[in-house]
Amino acid sequence: MTFTARHLLGIEPLHPVEITTVLDLAEHYVDLNRSSVKHSDVLAGLTQINMFFEASTRTQASFELAGKRLGADVMNMAMASSSLKKGETLIDTALTLNAMHPDLLVVRHPASGAVNLLAEKVNCAVLNAGDGRHEHPTQALLDALTIRRAKGRLHRLTVAICGDIAHSRVARSNLILLGKMENRVRLIGPPTLMPAGVAEFGCEVFDDMRAGLEGADVVMMLRLQRERMDGGFIPSEREYYHRFGLDAEKLGYAKPDAIVMHPGPMNRGVEIDGTIADDINRSVIQEQVEMGVAVRMAAMDLLARNLRKDR
Ligand code: ASP
Repeated sequence: MTFTARHLLGIEPLHPVEITTVLDLAEHYVDLNRSSVKHSDVLAGLTQINMFFEASTRTQASFELAGKRLGADVMNMAMASSSLKKGETLIDTALTLNAMHPDLLVVRHPASGAVNLLAEKVNCAVLNAGDGRHEHPTQALLDALTIRRAKGRLHRLTVAICGDIAHSRVARSNLILLGKMENRVRLIGPPTLMPAGVAEFGCEVFDDMRAGLEGADVVMMLRLQRERMDGGFIPSEREYYHRFGLDAEKLGYAKPDAIVMHPGPMNRGVEIDGTIADDINRSVIQEQVEMGVAVRMAAMDLLARNLRKDR
């Protein structure tokens, strides 16, 4: 197995072989999670601390379950009511954490780069659970596993990522991962929701769903991230749905066997029609959640192995 990283801060530093290693090990954890005794002790004796400075449902629950199924001592720090509110800096938080001797630290933060900064100050493996608009590596890995299982491969696929690209760490991590694995990535959305310098990523950019979805194997929808918008990026949600919301007609432009993905939380009737999201023949949204637990188990297992080697 090849996985040399000490932290999982983003997809950017990972080698394609390391990505494949995480996915292959995650397959093993998919089987464990489907069995009657969902337990292993690969993290026994290790302490996992989850620090979410931004709201999360799926990701936090998924990391917690992943750690517990692997036998770690898992603690969730309630950051909303923490000393940060009283003015403690991120560095002071890191020093406090070091004194508690965690082995795995899972961090979500609204500022891009905050998790990397924290990783420099603590003596344990750090997993980025989403930092600002920067990266959300476990989301891209779980998406990759979902695609690989549904399509039988993770290369030479046409993947359309649609919607609010500019504010999305999910889009960024996916773009990097899918590029590393030699897929063709298309970004579709209004020009106001495209990040500057998007052409550098070597993907095609569309502002029309019909042209962008033509022949796509995978249709990945994104949420309109209003919490990161500080002005009027779209005329109205109704207008947005009309042009960019995924409904049966627009899905008809993609390949007949194209799968539909969404990282959640979903705004039905804004970026996706509820019937499409619930269509078990096309939508793999629930599989994404299932793969999330397995991928996080694999990532923590691999980081713990490297941690033990270093000690
Ligand atoms: N849950 C994902 C994230 O944390 C996507 C989203 O919030 O729209 O980035």
